[in-house]
Amino acid sequence: MPDDAICARCDEHHECGDLAKTTRRRREAIDGSDYGYWVIDCQGRLLDINDTYARQSGFPRSELLRMTIMDLDACDDLGALRCHLETIRRIGHGVFDTVHRRKDGSLWPVHVAAFADPRHGANIFVFLTDLTERNREKEAQRIAAVVFESGEATVVTDADQKILQVNRQFTQITGYAAAEVIGKTPKMLQSGRHDDAFYASMWQSILGMGQWRGEVWDRRKNGEIYPKWLTVSAVKDQDGNTTHYIGSFQDVSERKKNEARIRELAFHDQLTGLANRALLFDRLTNMISMSARAEEYLAVILIDLDQFKMLNDTRGHDVGDRLLKTIASRLRASVRACDVVARLGGDEFVVGMTTSAAERNNARTQAAAVCEKIRRAITDPVELEGAPFCTTASIGVSLFQGGRITMDDALKQADLAMYRAKSAGRNAVRFFSPEMEAKITQRVRLETELREAIDREQFVLHYQLQFDTNDKPIGAEALLRWRHPDRGLIPPSEFIPLAEEIGLISRIGRLALRSACAQLAAWAANPVTEFLTISVNVSAKEFHEEEFVDHVLVTLAESSANPARLEIELTEGAMAHDVESLVLKMRSLHERGVRFSLDDFGTGYSSLMLLKRLPISRIKIDQSFVRDILVDESNAALVKSILSLGRALDVNVIAEGVETPEQRDFLARSGCRNFQGFYFSRPEEIESVETMLIRRSIPYSADDVQGR
Ligand code: C2E
Ligand code: MG
Ligand code: MG
Repeated sequence: MPDDAICARCDEHHECGDLAKTTRRRREAIDGSDYGYWVIDCQGRLLDINDTYARQSGFPRSELLRMTIMDLDACDDLGALRCHLETIRRIGHGVFDTVHRRKDGSLWPVHVAAFADPRHGANIFVFLTDLTERNREKEAQRIAAVVFESGEATVVTDADQKILQVNRQFTQITGYAAAEVIGKTPKMLQSGRHDDAFYASMWQSILGMGQWRGEVWDRRKNGEIYPKWLTVSAVKDQDGNTTHYIGSFQDVSERKKNEARIRELAFHDQLTGLANRALLFDRLTNMISMSARAEEYLAVILIDLDQFKMLNDTRGHDVGDRLLKTIASRLRASVRACDVVARLGGDEFVVGMTTSAAERNNARTQAAAVCEKIRRAITDPVELEGAPFCTTASIGVSLFQGGRITMDDALKQADLAMYRAKSAGRNAVRFFSPEMEAKITQRVRLETELREAIDREQFVLHYQLQFDTNDKPIGAEALLRWRHPDRGLIPPSEFIPLAEEIGLISRIGRLALRSACAQLAAWAANPVTEFLTISVNVSAKEFHEEEFVDHVLVTLAESSANPARLEIELTEGAMAHDVESLVLKMRSLHERGVRFSLDDFGTGYSSLMLLKRLPISRIKIDQSFVRDILVDESNAALVKSILSLGRALDVNVIAEGVETPEQRDFLARSGCRNFQGFYFSRPEEIESVETMLIRRSIPYSADDVQGR
């Protein structure tokens, strides 16, 4: 019992029967209250404190009873505190918020309500409320308000979906101010893009799981439809009843645009906007699986512009790009929207189309019609730098039923067919056929084997002797054979053109030249053969190589062969271009003694002017004229004029392909003095040729050799 307990009846400090009981109850109520309670005197000294305050402040009562409010109040402004006390004393009451310091030094917010009761002298009764919890709630509310305004666009509805609150972001994105939407439902935002089933499933999820998340297309106030990423959450009370719904969302139109742009970059050709390889494969895969179901044919059309590189090189890339763009849009316009048009790079385009035909011929007819349309669209002149430019394309088509071949194979087939179109003279359409593939496979195999053949030294020279009018050998033509491990001897017609095409001809030519020079050197040591010449065939490509002359001279030197016994056979093709370098090269070799003959004369285009300038020792009448010489008068006349040309130019003439004595006699009568052909001897291995030469055992001498 506090010492200052005052009797309500007599105002004395004492205890009496009832009073004691009342006082005790009152005391218990004060101590058990949620509020802190003080009695202070006019100096601010604490006269009484309840248990609640002692507990809240951490000070024992005994200690508190020795303290003043100045010790407990942690307010910086003691003047303000005094002012509060003064007001209370003057008007009898006062309220204010302050901060108290606990025994452990920590601070706690306190609401003070004080009364001065004149009946109790200058004492003041103070009720103190701990504000910690209230402040915390206030803080939480403040934070929630900030979060509400600073997070995603948010809309809060009641359980009936009536909008209660929206934030600034909501207004920013939708264009609606809060006042325009409050009281309405979010349905007002719908764009009409989604059907009822969409919203039904959304609500099923919200009602069942308390939440839905996904993309929704809504309409802004200005009518614009836009995508948003929306989360709708149900807010429930303690009993599990939904009290509110919160919808928060972001405008994802920008992000979608960026994604679309990235997709565009990843799947489209930058220059023309057509599909790129990745998208082509994707679309073709779909088309293949669809056409597989319907068993319909599909066409993959590969289009390669002819001579595009030349345009690019001569008129610049800008002009080239403009042509590609025009072609791209013409291609697009030539096919249906469901067909795919792609640019694979450079001047190569692909069209993938489904035909509506399950029968190959019908499908082919349809595809051919489209190809023709494409071909014409490309040949239409294009306006480039103010002038019309004409281009063409070579088109290859692979026609197949979905599921029968892979896409890679379809493209390969179209590619092979396209090359066929190119070699058929360009500006053409070719469909792939299995025979085409067989030929290509064969060619690829041949190419590989040809490369190996060089390393494995599978080439051998056969020699065909040449004769004069006395049937005496005057020399031999070296003719190359490929001794193939499985196929036996392969004639040059089967590998020389390929070797020229793939750049192997020089290596092969060098082998032939080295072998022929070695043979010349060997023959030089034998009186039977020392006067014989050896003619070596040199292809135009080989001859025009920079280091050809040096190579011939080095080979001659290394073999110690007599240059005067070496004859190089060139065809008229070698004279077709770079005449100046041709003349220089021939002259520099001729100066060292090497002779030249013009092979297959009459089949190409030689100018008489050029013939006069070149150091040519011999013209070889092509075997095609000799073959019909007895039956075809024009051939006979032609042969005669070649012979008189030889006489006029003072050049020796030899007839090739002489197969019969009649041909030989006719030629001899016409003034031909040298012959080569099966009638005399076939091309043979060196051993057979030498055996034959020895068997004839005529000691040939330079004087015996006529017409040289
Ligand atoms: P070519 O230089 O006109 O060679 C003559 C061709 O006619 C040879 O064919 C020869 O075997 C053939 N022949 C000779 N006499 C007769 C005959 O009476 N009747 C018929 N029907 N044919 C006859 P081959 O050996 O098949 O050579 C074909 C061509 O290959 C040569 O034509 C030549 O252009 C080229 N060639 C041969 N060897 C080489 C070489 O080492 N390098 C280069 N670049 N080409 C070569
Ligand atoms: Mg020849
Ligand atoms: Mg010939």
